[in-house]
Amino acid sequence: MPVTSREVHLVARPVGEPVPADFALVETTLPDPGPGQVLVRNTWLSVDPYMRGRMNDVKSYAPPYRLGEPMDGRAVGTVVASGELSVPVGATVLHPLGWREHALLPGGDVRIVDTAAVPAQAYLNALGMVGFTAYVGLTEIAPVREGDVVFVSGAAGAVGSIAGQIARALGASRVIGSAGGPEKKRRLVEEFGYDAAIDYREGDLERHLAEAAPDGIDVYFDNVGGEHLQAAIAVAREHTRIALCGAISQYNATGPVTGPNNLRLAMGKRLSLRGFIVSDHAHLMDEYVRRASGWLADGDLRVEETVVDGIDNAVTAFLDMMRGANTGKMLVRLAD
Ligand code: NAP
Repeated sequence: MPVTSREVHLVARPVGEPVPADFALVETTLPDPGPGQVLVRNTWLSVDPYMRGRMNDVKSYAPPYRLGEPMDGRAVGTVVASGELSVPVGATVLHPLGWREHALLPGGDVRIVDTAAVPAQAYLNALGMVGFTAYVGLTEIAPVREGDVVFVSGAAGAVGSIAGQIARALGASRVIGSAGGPEKKRRLVEEFGYDAAIDYREGDLERHLAEAAPDGIDVYFDNVGGEHLQAAIAVAREHTRIALCGAISQYNATGPVTGPNNLRLAMGKRLSLRGFIVSDHAHLMDEYVRRASGWLADGDLRVEETVVDGIDNAVTAFLDMMRGANTGKMLVRLAD
């Protein structure tokens, strides 16, 4: 039987901060799956900062969203009809067609996930791209060594809250996080195991970082860019490794952005700054899931979610995440 489904379309390219009018919730009808296809009822959708970049009509590592068509992104759901023998009805699957209630896609594009030990949405968070990004950054890109002082920005968010804990598990002696607002600052220390926290909205970031790391830092995991990167370069020790993961302070920029004005220090301090895209490191995923499952089971990894209900609120969830309304991973729940 064909199903009626709602999906979020991009209808205008945002200039600066996106607004609700840039999106539309559109009803559509999906046919029964054909041979090799599966029909998934989505239960959880991921909204992520990289989606902001895909709203611009520019060439990047991920293609731009098309105007007047549904956006996509990671989702988990339950298979409700299947034309693919290897993906049975009832299976919980991870797939790339989020931003919609139902997804019709080739069976080869979904991955069956095990929900015996973790809830389905864990595959959009600690056991998915989010946790894996933190791991790749701190093992491959800017490896943490025993005794290191590590600084993480965006530290109360999805990637950042996990990065701080992974840094500790990898042997960091001191982990410093920055986030926006006093409540997040408190939670960094009390809930996510940071040794020191900075509320970047207080200003004078470099001074606060120097106070939190009086002997400098060895590793910086950069989610924010701009002034955060500048402050990290300023307090870096010799041979500090910097993982350039994201630059969310600049994603809505409409003009020139503030950036590090002290890059010349990279020579004398012998700094390494390396950008990365997590999908290039897929060969490490099995290793990560094995280690993260252990950290989760031992209680060494505390995972946080901010949950918004309903497809009608998916755009709000995205906009709010970009403004910092989330702690941990921002998720949209369509059903349990
Ligand atoms: P997130 O941190 O859960 O959510 C975004 C956060 O950004 C907000 O909660 C907000 O926290 C912060 N923020 C917004 N504007 C800011 C500003 N002007 N200055 C400082 N912080 C600001 O998102 P996420 O999914 O974990 O992603 C974090 C970063 O990693 C993003 O830059 C993303 O693009 C990047 N990323 C990169 C890869 C890769 O492969 N390289 C993969 C995944 C994610 P506050 O309340 O603290 O401001």
